[in-house]
Amino acid sequence: MARVALVTGGIRGIGAAIARALQTAGYRVAVTFAGNTKAADAFHAETAIPVFQWDVGDFAACATGVKQVEAALGPIDVLVNNAGIVRDSALHKMAKEQWDMVVNTDLNALFNMCRPVIEGMRSRRFGRIINISSINGQKGQFGQTNYAAAKAGELGFTRALALENARAGITVNAICPGYTHTEMLDAVSPEVMASAILPQIPVGRLGRPEEIARAVVFLAADDAGFITGSTLSINGGQYMS
Ligand code: NDP
Repeated sequence: MARVALVTGGIRGIGAAIARALQTAGYRVAVTFAGNTKAADAFHAETAIPVFQWDVGDFAACATGVKQVEAALGPIDVLVNNAGIVRDSALHKMAKEQWDMVVNTDLNALFNMCRPVIEGMRSRRFGRIINISSINGQKGQFGQTNYAAAKAGELGFTRALALENARAGITVNAICPGYTHTEMLDAVSPEVMASAILPQIPVGRLGRPEEIARAVVFLAADDAGFITGSTLSINGGQYMS
């Protein structure tokens, strides 16, 4: 029986590319989304991948949602924590709500999603958890104390969970994409993109969602069991750590 993979925020952008790549690789895939019903319907119509709506920042909703996915597809073997948001502002202008929203969606979600799947993975002695962090969690970014803190927190979470589950057949890894061509970048003006962002990328272009997805397929594989606690940078050479 094909393994089951769940991708949060999987109807658009990087998450959609991950879901499609896992489906192509033979996984039975489910995706979640927050509220963009139109995009969710279009994604489902195109891929036949089941879509589920809940807020990854809501612990109880995640527990219920995971149960629904497992009832529909079976136990989750691969969890890709991809859902994320930005609410940029310099700290001296940042509202508490901007801080809370980003930390809740980008960091607390890892606890909310991993907690309901980890016991099952441990009992089955197999699991793959892949957390989509960010280059800006590695190097920091002006206007992103909230996002950089949450994304750096994902890296610590990844390493600690990897240690806890190394003997249980579960790997936990993080991917740090650089600037990748999705709607998340709509907030960046064309002038800033051309003058400030592109010149920093040695490869000379934005990443493509498919270029992140192929690394997820690699880390999710059954024969990737010796890769755990790692952080994979995919950023066109912009930041080397
Ligand atoms: P998009 O904005 O294109 O898509 C984000 C997805 O996450 C959407 O499907 C959205 O749902 C979902 N989502 C947002 N908030 C929630 C929530 N509270 N509960 C459930 N789902 C939610 O993002 P990208 O594809 O660009 O980014 C994907 C990941 O990659 C994020 O974690 C991001 O931080 C990270 N990343 C992106 C980079 C980039 O340059 N694009 C660079 C580095 C990291 P809905 O469709 O319903 O709105």
